[in-house]
Amino acid sequence: MIEAMDHVIECRRLSKKYHGAGSFALHNLSLHVDAGEVYGFLGPNGAGKSTTIRTLMNFIQPTSGSASILGLDVAKEAMGIKREIGYLAGDGAVYPKMTGSQYLEYLGELQPPAKAYRQELAKRLQASLHKPLGSLSRGNRQKVSIIQAFMHQPKVLILDEPSSGLDPLMQEVFYELIGEAKARGAAVFMSSHILGEVQKVCSRVGIIRDGRLIAERTIADMAKEAAQTFDLMFKENAPLDALRQLASVQKLVVNDPRSVTLHVSGELSPLFSLLAKHTVTKIDTRALDLEEAFLHYYQQGGSEHV
Ligand code: ADP
Repeated sequence: MIEAMDHVIECRRLSKKYHGAGSFALHNLSLHVDAGEVYGFLGPNGAGKSTTIRTLMNFIQPTSGSASILGLDVAKEAMGIKREIGYLAGDGAVYPKMTGSQYLEYLGELQPPAKAYRQELAKRLQASLHKPLGSLSRGNRQKVSIIQAFMHQPKVLILDEPSSGLDPLMQEVFYELIGEAKARGAAVFMSSHILGEVQKVCSRVGIIRDGRLIAERTIADMAKEAAQTFDLMFKENAPLDALRQLASVQKLVVNDPRSVTLHVSGELSPLFSLLAKHTVTKIDTRALDLEEAFLHYYQQGGSEHV
């Protein structure tokens, strides 16, 4: 039965305790991905990324909670959803004796692909389809896995560490493919530990640690939050009260009465209007990039979401 469909992918309070395990691999994990959205799922090893993906693919069943894809329950209505999903496994498991072509033909029988698109993908990724998969390097096997995930232009892409093993040039091709899938309205859920990649291709990120979603942000918000550091030297005493009142000043350190260090995020013009009223003898600025914003979530003990 098709439920009212709000989100393309939805996990509702998923928990998973593996048989015999002492602790939960997932705790009440809730998240969603909409059409045209690329969701980056980030977290250290053992955080629960694969467990979430395996649950979405119905390879394992949750201890409690539920998940749906295109409005269909992944456990109860798995058959109805499979052909709408492009899936790339993290371990790159394939049939070692088949060649890439044979493998893609075989899958094509399961999910009729647009043949021309399959050939285009092979060309763009420079994939060698005529050798047994078992004889290919990890990167070349990964290319075949990417082709099989994308070739039927699915509405949903579930990708476990998709760019691992690809050289930088092919990573760029892969990012283009993600962009094209997004543009045609697919919902993409991808796990990754490469921060630069997530920053580049994802619209939103969720950070998972110890089976819990500890933070969720749009990339645009993270960019706004990423502070820049200004070291300022004034001719007279620094206008501390006025600086503290600026909404953009996140942190103010007084080095000496005429010198301050500020962490500033968001709109800079109010700061510059204030500085224009004073004699500033020196400005040094250091940009903090998104990577630092991510690391902040990775490293800090506190959870701020869910
Ligand atoms: P990630 O993909 O983020 O590295 P996983 O989902 O593989 O994390 O693992 C989450 C937790 O569940 C880890 O503590 C891991 O040891 C445990 N785990 C994963 N698979 C199994 C399994 N088949 N049996 C028991 N424990 C498992």
